[in-house]
Amino acid sequence: MEMENLEIGGYQIAPGETRSIELAAAKLYTDTEICIPVHVMRGKKPGPNLFVSAAVHGDELNGIEIIRRLIQLKTLKVTAGSLILVPMVNVYGVLNQSRYMPDRRDLNRSFPGSPRGSLAGRVANLFLEEIVSHCEYGIDLHTGAVHRSNLPQIRADLSDAETKELAEVFNVPVILNSDLRDGSLREASIDLDTRILLYEAGEALRFNELSIRAGVKGVLNVLQHLGMVKRKQGRKKSITPFTANTSSWVRANSSGIVHDLKHLGDQVSKGTPLAEIGSPFGEVMDTVVAHKPGIIIGKQNIPLVQEGDAMFHIAFFSESDSEVAETIDAMHESLAPDHQPGSP
Ligand SMILES: [Zn+2]
Repeated sequence: MEMENLEIGGYQIAPGETRSIELAAAKLYTDTEICIPVHVMRGKKPGPNLFVSAAVHGDELNGIEIIRRLIQLKTLKVTAGSLILVPMVNVYGVLNQSRYMPDRRDLNRSFPGSPRGSLAGRVANLFLEEIVSHCEYGIDLHTGAVHRSNLPQIRADLSDAETKELAEVFNVPVILNSDLRDGSLREASIDLDTRILLYEAGEALRFNELSIRAGVKGVLNVLQHLGMVKRKQGRKKSITPFTANTSSWVRANSSGIVHDLKHLGDQVSKGTPLAEIGSPFGEVMDTVVAHKPGIIIGKQNIPLVQEGDAMFHIAFFSESDSEVAETIDAMHESLAPDHQPGSP
């Protein structure tokens, strides 16, 4: 089979070629050119095309670092198909250290957009036309919002068997079967028959080492599964992810100062105390409790709450929760920054 050049932003990328290109987006009003950086690695053999995108929300930085490490990884050689890495989709938001576009729209609610739409709609459309439309698969990297951390997790439409398989291959402890949001990159990708995983880990405007390592490893697992890279020697230990079909936030019933009793990845039962809310004078006014058994997959980090604030995001599982907690422990152990094999 004759392999063709891949054309992105007017650049031609030949089979076997690796190059960085700049995808021109709307200028700033200072007349400064703005480009979305794209790094393409093409194998010599035919195979699937996969994009990995980050910073669709401009303040979500873990994904930028995950892609930077993938590009720097000397052992990563794409032999078949194409890997298209886009570390900063909302490049305007990255400049402003903001989740949003300069027009205050959320890029991840602006898909599919159009070339004559709002600024957000134009960037969404550019990304769909130049990147997503070439790809059978995609991985979109996200983090929690500002002051909210997420346990490393994959969100995907598990009603599709191949998407479910890829979600498991990525190999983080928790998979959340999640509904599509109108206007998201994920929804627009599925409309183009691109299977897509959403990776959520850590919080905005911070690097979280565990989340970054789990993300790098997850992308490599998917590349290997799709036959795009040489199979590694030896068998790697993998974890069995747990799938949650539902999740919900536990909210504060009073305003005050928060003392956390439970943390990300902790297993909880119905009635487990999650945090105490105290007054400035010291007395505990309220104890926040879990309403159903599950695992804490997200939490807010500011130790101050107003009544009604979302505090803990809990995923509900059908499997035994103690096993979920063990799986999370296993991931922490294998990816911990200070982990030295054989050390106590
Ligand atoms: Zn996000």
